[in-house]
Order: sequence, then structure tokens, then C-alpha cells
Amino acid sequence: MRRQLGKLFHSHSLPSSISSHTARIRFHGYRFLRTEKVSNFFSEAYFPARERFLEAAVACNARVDHLALQARGPEGQSLSIDIAWRGSIRPRQVIVHQSGLHGVEGFAGSAIQLSLLTEPPAIDQDTALVLVHIINPFGMAWLRRVNERNVDLNRNCLNDGETWQGTPQGYRMLDRLLNPPTPPGFDFFDLRAVSSILRHGFSALKQAVVAGQFDYPQGLFYGGARLQQGPSLYQAWLSEHLGTVRRILVIDVHTGLGRWAQETLFLQGSSSAADDQWLSQLLGRSLVRVQQDPTLGYEIRGGMSNLFSNLFKHAHGIYITQEFGTYPALKVIHALREENRWHFFGQGHPQHPIKQKLKRTMCPDSENWRRLILNQGITLVKKAIKLPPIKDRQTE
Ligand SMILES: [Zn+2]
Repeated sequence: MRRQLGKLFHSHSLPSSISSHTARIRFHGYRFLRTEKVSNFFSEAYFPARERFLEAAVACNARVDHLALQARGPEGQSLSIDIAWRGSIRPRQVIVHQSGLHGVEGFAGSAIQLSLLTEPPAIDQDTALVLVHIINPFGMAWLRRVNERNVDLNRNCLNDGETWQGTPQGYRMLDRLLNPPTPPGFDFFDLRAVSSILRHGFSALKQAVVAGQFDYPQGLFYGGARLQQGPSLYQAWLSEHLGTVRRILVIDVHTGLGRWAQETLFLQGSSSAADDQWLSQLLGRSLVRVQQDPTLGYEIRGGMSNLFSNLFKHAHGIYITQEFGTYPALKVIHALREENRWHFFGQGHPQHPIKQKLKRTMCPDSENWRRLILNQGITLVKKAIKLPPIKDRQTE
């Protein structure tokens, strides 16, 4: 059915409203940038970000849900995944916008969500926009990529039948380099990493390191030993509230991969080439499938898109990972590595310079970077909301 829906849409020419809509967004963005300092939408820590998200959600009459977690913040504060719902109560199509699946990467997605609630875009009758604020609040509060059990939630959503074990050979080889059992300190990491890259090749090494591992519970990119509380509650919520939608488009915002302030959109899930082209044309963006271009990204085990493809087997599912680049890959890995050492072999408190460095690596303290990210983030959501409506197959 997905194939036929794809064909149906693909055969249509671009609706004329798309171009005028784009112009309006551009104008709107310009006015917005002149009157508001973009940085105002970026919060400096998790708790103010959460408070502002909830206040803005209430102010625009969004329906709000909280998924309470057992994990706690640095001062013992309670943590939750917060969800704001705008538009149709029983939508046929829904845009799910996710931030903070990787905790410390959540600042950009949170800012995009705050601006979408502060200046809410118009939503068609049968559509809903669901903003999911910080899927890993522990990670954002403690300035970690991972959750309270060191689990990378984007490696934690295994498909049925997959086992909670296995590690790429390249990762085993680099374990000592990636995860030294000592507090942070200078140890020629860059030099040693570059030498490994020269010996084994950058793409192969990147794939081995970040694909996900299930045997080093204190190591980077650990996928866990069971489905974690956050994804589990989120899965139940999605099933309860969105079980009947016909189309679900997920935008999952991340930072730290790609060139400075540059957006890369990774498309996941099975779909025909015609479907991909149709979507790319309507969104006005090129979409990357990692299998086709391993230089830009990498394949992972246990990604959150699995959760959606299992839940929404009968809907037209589109899962886009929106990555915003910050610094070169080696610098990002180095910052993650030092934070991990501080967490396990130092005192772990979030005020430490190592933590603050990881935060700035994932969300640079640059007005220009933040303005570019906010613009790209808002534009993608507004285009996604305007995808042509789903038609019943009986009326084709
Ligand atoms: Zn990420």
C-alpha cells in the first residue's frame, strides 16, 4: 500500500501553494530574525528548557502529556519526557518532532520546538504536530549523550529476535583508545586516533566505532541489556495515541555530525526510490540513505526508527534524522570520550569544564550557528506539515 500511495503522490505535480508558502516562510524568517535574538530560543540547561517548553505549550493551547521517569537530575529533580500536541485530536497524518534522544544534543531541537510553540504554524484539519521534548532528559540535565545506565537510546531499540550482545570487531580493537579506565587527561588521543584512521580507513573505523556495541557497559555507544524506561514509555504512548494514523512523519533532531551549521537529512525505513524522490521534492531537500552514501553517515543497530516501523506497520511511515554539523568528527568523539571518563572515573558533576566542553561541542556558543540551525529546523517542520493529504485508496 505504501508503494501505491507513493506512486499516487509522485504522479502529482508540486501544488502551487508550495512556492508561495516557501516565500512566506522566508519572509517570516527574516522578520523573525530581525526582531528576536535567535539565541533567546536556546536554553542554557535542561530545566529552564523544559519550563519554557511547557509554558509555551500551555500558552498556545497545546495538549500536554508527561512521561515521568525514575532517573533524577543533578539536584535530585524529577525528570520527564514532555509532549505537546497541536492540531487534530484524531489525525490521519501526524508530524512527530523529537529532541534530545541523545541528551546533551538536545539544545538545538529544544530551541526549534520552543519557536514552533511561540509562533505556531497553521495546521490542516486532519493533521497533528506532536512535539516530543527531550527523550533523554537525564542526558541533557547531566550533559551526557546517554541515559542513567550509560545507554545510547538510539542503539537501544532492537527489533524482535535481535540479541542484546555483539560488538563490531573494529570497536573491540579500539576499546582501550576509546574507553580508557582513567579520569580525563592528555594522552595523545588525537595522534593515536589519526594513526588508527591511517591504518584502517576513516569510513570503516567510523562505522565500527559508532554502529553500537552491547558488550562494554561503560563504553561509548553502548546499546544496553534491555529496552530502557524512556523508549518503553514512549512506545506505549505512541501506540495509545497514534495507533490509527495513516501517515506518520518523524523528524528526530541531532547535532554533532556534518559540517558547521550544515543540515543532513537521513531517511530511514523501507520505501521505494520513487517515494524517496517524491518526498525529497516536496520537502525541497535532498535526503540521504546511509546505505547509498556511507561517507556522510553510518548504519546503526537498535535505532529508534525500529520502534516506529514496528508500531506503524500499516501506515505510511517516514523517519528522518535531521543532523546539524558542529565540529570535525574526531573533535566530537574526543569530547564524548573525555566526558565518559569524567563520569565513570572522575566526580561526574555537570559544572566541570569537561561537561561544558561537550555541551559547546554539541551546541556551539555562536549566534550564527544557532540562527542557521533554527531556520533550517523550522523550515523542515513547516514543509512537513504541508505535505499533500492522504487519500483513501477507494477514491483513487
Ligand atoms: Zn545524536
